[in-house]
Amino acid sequence: MILIYSDSIKTAYELAGKGKALAQELNTQVVAALIGTGSDKEAEELIQYGADKVIIAETTLQTFKVEEYTDILEKIAAENSCDTILIGSTKNGKELAPRLAAKLNAGSVTDCTNIYLKDGKVTVERFVFSGNAVAVQQFASTPRIVTVPPKTFDLPARDTGKKGDILKKKYDTGTYGSNIVKVQEMSSDSVNVEEASIIVSCGRGLKKKEDIKLLEELAAVLKATIGCSRPIAADLKWLSVDHWIGLSGHKVKPKLYVACGISGQIQHIAGMRDSNVIVAINKDPEAPIFKSADYGIVGDLYAVLPALTNAIREVIKS
Ligand code: FAD
Repeated sequence: MILIYSDSIKTAYELAGKGKALAQELNTQVVAALIGTGSDKEAEELIQYGADKVIIAETTLQTFKVEEYTDILEKIAAENSCDTILIGSTKNGKELAPRLAAKLNAGSVTDCTNIYLKDGKVTVERFVFSGNAVAVQQFASTPRIVTVPPKTFDLPARDTGKKGDILKKKYDTGTYGSNIVKVQEMSSDSVNVEEASIIVSCGRGLKKKEDIKLLEELAAVLKATIGCSRPIAADLKWLSVDHWIGLSGHKVKPKLYVACGISGQIQHIAGMRDSNVIVAINKDPEAPIFKSADYGIVGDLYAVLPALTNAIREVIKS
């Protein structure tokens, strides 16, 4: 049996689809875990996206507590004889997977970008050396744990007629050495680049913070979200970390990504390479970003951006 879990329901749906494809190759089934806040509707959708069975594990906690969630997943894996476990590589998933691997004495490969069967063995791929190479890895034992970043796999087609078992269970998980006293949300700009369908992103090609308004004007006509490279968020602090895209920032997959004054170092590319269409604006014709771009505009962003914004405005008007 393949077990899938993610605290992000969207990622769980993606894993249900991938899990189903893998289950067909392995001639097995998919069980999905919904822990704590899972609803019947989400359970039904998990089945429609590929799970054969969903276990809604009720907890006494309102928020994620890694020890309890690990214990619950350990029990679900044992009850269902799961030899393959796919976990969403969210912040919580990253904390959960190694703990579960330790409990199950399982091999664990993190942040995988593909999973398939090769020579009868579960095979995974992941970027290494800052995205400069792809490692192809196989497991030497079971159970095996694979973590998968959000949006790695497309949301599968939903089969609204598909039926499966939904079980509600309460697991006895004992007591732990620590308690969550309070959870306070971090203040943010309410920006979610990971969910954006169009991103206009800036880099060190901008001369000063105020010039971000050039991107805001383009973003307004495109109904886009503003993203940025690491120096803009981490060094210059012109934008909050919510906008930061790349290996150590957010991984995005928009329909359109417009990179303005971004050189295209591999650490930035690692976060936006899966965008459907990439447009790069850079005054240096040799800038590496052009190798990743579908469309390149060689020019000064201070001239290109206002012209582009006006041209798009005119097209929208007509
Ligand atoms: P630069 O590399 O300085 O590029 C600026 C570009 O702007 C140049 O190509 C230049 O030609 C162009 N330009 C200048 N003026 C104009 C103009 N007027 N008009 C048009 N173009 C112009 N970076 C990330 O972005 N995200 C990450 O998550 C990330 N993680 C990292 C993790 C590690 C472990 C390390 C070591 C680095 C990481 N970096 C990350 C940093 C990364 O290596 C680069 O330093 C960074 O992406 C460069 O940002 P940039 O393209 O904005 O700046």
